[in-house]
Amino acid sequence: MQRIVVAIDGPSGSGKSSVSKEAARRLNAVYLDTGAMYRAVTWHALDAGTDLSDAAAVAAAVKAADLFISLDPDVEKITIHGTDVTETIREPFVSEAVSAVATNLEARAELVARQRAIIEANERIIAEGRDITTVVAPDADARILLTASEEARLRRRGIQLGGTQSEAELEAQVLARDAKDSTVVNFTVAADGVATVDSSDLDFEQTVLAVLEAITAQASTNA
Ligand code: C5P
Repeated sequence: MQRIVVAIDGPSGSGKSSVSKEAARRLNAVYLDTGAMYRAVTWHALDAGTDLSDAAAVAAAVKAADLFISLDPDVEKITIHGTDVTETIREPFVSEAVSAVATNLEARAELVARQRAIIEANERIIAEGRDITTVVAPDADARILLTASEEARLRRRGIQLGGTQSEAELEAQVLARDAKDSTVVNFTVAADGVATVDSSDLDFEQTVLAVLEAITAQASTNA
């Protein structure tokens, strides 16, 4: 089968994880959730009592991180220093702290290097995050920005968290986080050559099909 690298970026609640995972299954590709890597190192820094405002300490912790992430779209698993954090990293306390690590440029450089190595080592891969189309894999065969209106994103994240969060809590985890993340990466405007798929008015299946279509169109143009 032909090698294919697909890069997908988007803000929180755009549906990029579930859509990318399903697109990977249908393309017989592996799947890399780069956000999970940022979340895992954040969880570890919190667990170790690292002061997240101490840039040097955070960078050192990220460089030393023994991180494992499953690339199988059907097996969600991430461990750090042997601890399985698959579930914990989705909790609001991690979502609210993660930008402190993601805005640390040394920590980013370390994770970007690890993500590039994973992409390099895999023949068929969909990698998703905030800077995959622009920084991690700007030469990918297909690059997509998956967007959705603010309203749709808040609604989806609310459902994902089982209706446990108030409106203010959701806004902190979705909008405030995006605002903080935007200070170091641009994931709201498509860079040159990146196709935009707006999922605001699409259901899950329609979004998957729109993404697959964009991949096919770009991969054949770039071949
Ligand atoms: O995608 P997800 O919401 O799980 O990402 C969690 C956090 O990881 C983001 O809010 C952002 O701070 C960071 N991130 C990043 N660059 C990526 C992926 C995620 O900065 N490529």
